[in-house]
Amino acid sequence: MDLVRTEFEVLDERFADCGGDQWMRRLHTGCRWTEGPVYFPAGRYLVFSDIPNDRLLRWDETTDRVGVFRQPSGYANGHTRDRAGRLVSCEHGNRRVTRTEHDGTVTVLADRYRGKRLNSPNDVVERSDGSIWFTDPAYGIDSDYEGYRAESEIGACHVYRVDPSTGEVEIAADDFNRPNGLAFAPDESRLYIADTRQTPSHIRVFDVASDGGLTGGEVFGTSDSGGFDGLRVDTAGRVWAAAHDGLHCFAPDGTRIGKLRVPEICSNLTFGGPRRNELFITASTSVYTLRVTVNGVH
Ligand code: MG
Repeated sequence: MDLVRTEFEVLDERFADCGGDQWMRRLHTGCRWTEGPVYFPAGRYLVFSDIPNDRLLRWDETTDRVGVFRQPSGYANGHTRDRAGRLVSCEHGNRRVTRTEHDGTVTVLADRYRGKRLNSPNDVVERSDGSIWFTDPAYGIDSDYEGYRAESEIGACHVYRVDPSTGEVEIAADDFNRPNGLAFAPDESRLYIADTRQTPSHIRVFDVASDGGLTGGEVFGTSDSGGFDGLRVDTAGRVWAAAHDGLHCFAPDGTRIGKLRVPEICSNLTFGGPRRNELFITASTSVYTLRVTVNGVH
């Protein structure tokens, strides 16, 4: 078992509440590019993507073993667990967002916008009204590295929302370069969305109306270490963002208050366990975990 000394870097006194195990565990390594960590408390397992190897892996907490969950995976990237406990996945290769039902069948939630194929859905969240929100940059069609090289049919990289009653795919935001990770504030009044390919990379914040309409969109925080990728929010409203030197933590007012250093370039994170205080981080070739003193929101 690989252990790495945990390094919480305090940049603001408000980060003093954020801590955890002295050592971070490397659960698994040997992947090409890990992403999309999603934890299932009922089954006590973590599913994550190894995108360029076209597979999903599963770490079983009860045996501490990692095995293949799905291969080929459609070059799946980000995932979420919906309120019914089902896996919702962004698939680069199939250029779609799917849901794996309890009986194992796969339902397509979104693959086109107004008849044109999506680029390569990257990351996904569910809102409590059942709407599914996802980002659609072009990383899966830029080359054959983590998908299939193709021209964009839509010609731009948007953020989309799938209506929970009609299933219709609507544009939620259309002024991004490469939208990536996204997460709602604990009360869902705000939505945070990373734009990886800005210089510097940044996170924007939107106000969310009860009908799902977005307003605002100002820059919330910027990266001082590579592109922001996946995001998660904790119950205190802090925003945790994956970056090149680890996770960056922002207070709800947008101040970067601290970092959790990670020895590989980070792509994403999730708060797992029954109390959502087991942090799982996908980072380049590996997955790291530690128990922390904060709790994630769903
Ligand atoms: Mg991503």
